[in-house]
Amino acid sequence: MKGDWKSRGFSTRAIHAGQHPDPTTGAVSMPIYATSTYVHDELGRHKGYEYARVQNPTRAALEANVASLEGGLTGHAFASGMSAIATLMTLLRTGEHAVFSRNVYGGTYRFMTQVLSRYGVESSWVDSTDLANVRAALRPTTRLIYVETPTNPMMEVTDIAGAAELAHRHGAVLAVDNTFLSPYFQRPLELGAEVVVHSTTKFLNGHSDSIGGVLVATRPEHGEWFAFVQKSEGAILSPFDSFLVLRGLKTLGVRMERHEQSGRALADLLARHPKVRRVLYPGLADHPGHAVQKRQASGFGALITFDLGSFEAAKRFLDRVEVMSLAESLGGVETLTSHPASMTHASVPPETRAELGIGDGLVRISVGLEDFADLAADCERALAAV
Ligand SMILES: *Cc1c(COP(=O)(O)O)cnc(C)c1O
Repeated sequence: MKGDWKSRGFSTRAIHAGQHPDPTTGAVSMPIYATSTYVHDELGRHKGYEYARVQNPTRAALEANVASLEGGLTGHAFASGMSAIATLMTLLRTGEHAVFSRNVYGGTYRFMTQVLSRYGVESSWVDSTDLANVRAALRPTTRLIYVETPTNPMMEVTDIAGAAELAHRHGAVLAVDNTFLSPYFQRPLELGAEVVVHSTTKFLNGHSDSIGGVLVATRPEHGEWFAFVQKSEGAILSPFDSFLVLRGLKTLGVRMERHEQSGRALADLLARHPKVRRVLYPGLADHPGHAVQKRQASGFGALITFDLGSFEAAKRFLDRVEVMSLAESLGGVETLTSHPASMTHASVPPETRAELGIGDGLVRISVGLEDFADLAADCERALAAV
């Protein structure tokens, strides 16, 4: 794209930012640079590419694209969301401390409590829907506040700007896992966060055919460090996966619109249904995080959790759906259902699950892009069996 793409709209940037027609052929689509190394013009002179763990044009295009969509300075693409998160955590040194939203992605919890804890990095887990809990958890050694909003499966919403203010007054960094809403609906950097994390596996790629992760930094020193760790640890996103995510991003805007349209409609259907005890969806006016999310995001997304009261009832529902599939993950074109207590959160100890409210009757839906009439009929049919 010619000219200043910073001034263009979201979907224009999603389609063009970071990409230029191939200089050799004019190919409109970013080629997959399947190469391990690059020929030098002469000793001491090369084209900026030396070895493909360090630089790859397909990956660089994706990194620039996501950085543009989040409004950040630099992007860094990794082999998975977890390797992006693990790289972020290398900002912490032995003896330092981080405060987390208590209901973050299970892999983040596992990495902090079972891996980084071995290196003397300490973490606290608090209900960050009330920032007083975050403030109370701060220590002189706290360097990072890490927020996921909304969370899975409890849809807990955290005030990002408030968390950023707390972090900055304390001399700490705020990082936000923005996987659930994508930059189309929520841009934490504009609200004061320093780093955004994504599992591109979910909405950014959007087609359930790739695992990947991205960090977006606003500070040059963070960007340099993330690139250094990316090179040093080597958990890079492959050229093929970079291509897939770039392709997925081109339709992020239209996909998110439709995800949310169906998400809202399905949440309404569930909220009205006599067999559903409770619906957790930030778009419903009675959701405790509704007002905060309305203020800090431009949409409510496509993840819905609801309570059918018992394991048996949840099992009936999950075994009866036909259009929806029972599978972990989210954010793809297909609607996926899951049973958090026995699937995504099975490794969380039962007493912690109870504390978080993750009961055996909970079902989580990631609403996809199928015709809504089919999704609604599928839901009604499965609920009738409960
Ligand atoms: C899936 C997910 C991750 C981890 O990403 P992977 O690509 O599976 O490694 C991190 N955070 C959130 C919110 C996720 O949904």
